This record gives sequence, structure tokens and C-alpha cells, in this order.
Amino acid sequence: MNRSIAKLGTTIFEVMSGLARETGAINLGQGFPDAQGPTELLDAAARALTERSNQYPPMRGLPELRAAIAHYYKAHQDLDLADDEIVVTSGATEGLAACITGLLNPGDEVILVQPLYDAYAPLAELIGAVPRFISLAPPDWKLPMDALCAAVTPRTRMILLNTPHNPTGSMISRAEFEELAVICETHDIVLVCDEVWEAMIFDGSRHVSPLAVEGLRQRSVKIGSAGKIFSLTGWKVGWLCAAPPLASVLAKAHQFLTFTTPPSLQWAVTEGLMLPVEWHKAHVRSHADGRARLEAGLKDAGFAVLPSSATWFLHADLKASGIELPDTEFCDRSVREAKVVTIPFSAFYAQAPETGFVRFCFTKPEATLDEALGRLAQFRQSLL
Ligand code: PMP
Ligand code: GLN
Repeated sequence: MNRSIAKLGTTIFEVMSGLARETGAINLGQGFPDAQGPTELLDAAARALTERSNQYPPMRGLPELRAAIAHYYKAHQDLDLADDEIVVTSGATEGLAACITGLLNPGDEVILVQPLYDAYAPLAELIGAVPRFISLAPPDWKLPMDALCAAVTPRTRMILLNTPHNPTGSMISRAEFEELAVICETHDIVLVCDEVWEAMIFDGSRHVSPLAVEGLRQRSVKIGSAGKIFSLTGWKVGWLCAAPPLASVLAKAHQFLTFTTPPSLQWAVTEGLMLPVEWHKAHVRSHADGRARLEAGLKDAGFAVLPSSATWFLHADLKASGIELPDTEFCDRSVREAKVVTIPFSAFYAQAPETGFVRFCFTKPEATLDEALGRLAQFRQSLL
């Protein structure tokens, strides 16, 4: 067996959703909405499945989808993207794999920021690249620029960032990207930016992509995901955007990872991305009530909820909530005793240290959230 794969466990999201299926617990763990998804996209996919080709589309994605991605980013982020700067992938996960396999060699170092999405480090290690970890700190979870600079060595080839950030909901500012531009230019580093949560912003903050920043436009890769933009996480349609020399390397990696992505879903995402900006704003707002409900309910139940700008998640500080348990123990007991599934922050660290933070997903119906909140309130009382 491959040594890097052999030492892996099963991803926390599968473990926790598995527990929810087995025990019938309410699942506020893995990030997905319970709702069926926007009818505009479901109808478009159904139409495409019967009316359009179901054979291999072009390797870089349908030209119509690439044009729609460029249109969407012009309308929402004022980015100018050309057709040869976009590669459609099977979800952001494949996009990440294409960046890591396409842009790194064994022994190259990649700077990763903890807490981090759990795929990053295993993908890097799989090809023999060496992760160098830096960490964000509560309560604002801002990028520690000094630690980042200190982590750069002559072997650093990539910095992999995530904004808006899962699990904390924090975001990287333009000023921070400008500082990053100097670091990346000085040391000839590629910046890969996982922006899958770019549309799911709830506090009025504006998303900044490194592609919108002068010194980073030519040396950054932007990763997007229709799964998050349209609340259709099972569709696994994603993309990479980068200057042509980078995009053609990424396309070479993509051709032997999956080569392509189901054309019916590509057509549907094309239609979705062309919907008016107002439609997209209303779609984001459709999650806002659940967010407000979860936040208020957790606070009423005595949980200390930390600030967050974006994503489908809120997180609580256990210690500040009067709970003297490590996060994994809280989450394990919450499934068994409260029948509510949550995600421990330690799952977002390579060495899985115990942390005092727990993540809750709010994209659930009101009644589900209310029931979960009642159970969590009782559970907290039982722990005091
Ligand atoms: N990156 C981050 C930060 C995520 O949270 C997720 C999944 N929620 C992904 C990547 C994977 O996205 P996809 O489902 O499009 O592969
Ligand atoms: N990104 C999702 C989350 O954070 C999970 C994705 C997955 O299960 N692979 O919940």
C-alpha cells in the first residue's frame, strides 16, 4: 500500500455523517443543506440529461461553462478571466489535487494554515511534498504574517490558503493579500487560494481573490465550487482559474485525474452562473435565517459563539461556554448523549491536538435546528 495512504484514517465528515445515519442523530456536522437545491438548476440538469450529449465534453470543461464562470466572476468580483484561464474540475477537491500534483515536486515545501480543510496535508504528502504548518488564533483567526514569513525557506514553492475560511468563517483582506504578494514575488512562490466559500458571506464583508491583486494575478490559482455557490454539494463541479501558463499545467494534471466532469451538470451550472446577481443574493439570503436561528439558539443555551463572516458554519468556544471538555470528547458525547452530530476543530489540524472549539452547520430546516438546539442546551447543562 502507498505509505501516505496507509497511515490515513477516514475523513471526519464521513465518520460523523456515518454516525448520524447509524444513530439517527441530527447532523449539524458535515456541511450540506437539507433542502433539495434551487429548482432552476435541478430543472436545467434534468433537461440537459435528456436533451444534450452525455459523451465526453472537452477536457478543460464546456466552453459555455468556462464563459459562464468568467461572466460570474466579472459580475460578482470584477475579475477579468479569459477562456484559457479556466479549467473545470470534478469539484474543488479535484482542483486541489491538480494544483498539488501539477505544481509541486517531492521535497518541495508548501505552507499550510491550521485549522485547515482536511484534504490539504494528505494530498501534499501523497506526492512527497512537505507541509510547513502555521496556525491561526482565536477569536479573529487572522493570518499571522510574521509566522508565515518565518515559515518560508528556499524550498517553499507554494502557499495554500482558504478564504472565506472553513471552519472559522474568517476572511483574508486585500491588505493581507498585498503583503502576500511581496512574499510570493520575493521568493517565487505560487499562491493557491481555495475560495469555495466565496459566495456564502453573511455579514456584508466583500470577498477578495488574489487574482484581483496586482502582484498575485500571474502567480495565483483560484479554486471555486458550484457545490457551495448553488448549495448542491453532491454535484462536484468545481474549477481552477489562473494565468495561462499555470492553467495549462493544471489542465495537464486534470487530464489524468478525472479528464472531465458530467456534461449535464456542467450545462446546469452554466445556466446557474448566468442567473442575475439578484438571484444569487437571494440564494445566499435563503441561508441567513438558519444562521441567525442557530446563533441565537446557541447563545441562549449558554454557548460562547465566536464571530464569523462566512461559510455554512458557526463555532463555539467550549471553555468560554463553561464546558471543560476537549473538543473530540464533546463531539463524541454529543452524538451519544444529545443525539446531535457536530465537528471538532481538532479534525482541522494535521496532528489533531485537542482544541476547545466545535463547529455547527446551520443549513437545516427551522424545526431541525430547534430540536438540535433544545438537545444541545440540555447537554450543556448536564456538563456543568
Ligand atoms: N475546500 C473547502 C475549504 C471545503 O470546505 C470543501 C468542501 N466543503 C472543499 C474544498 C471541497 O469542495 P468540493 O465538494 O467542490 O470538492
Ligand atoms: N467541506 C465540507 C465540510 O466542511 C465537507 C466535505 C466533505 O465531506 N468531503 O463540512
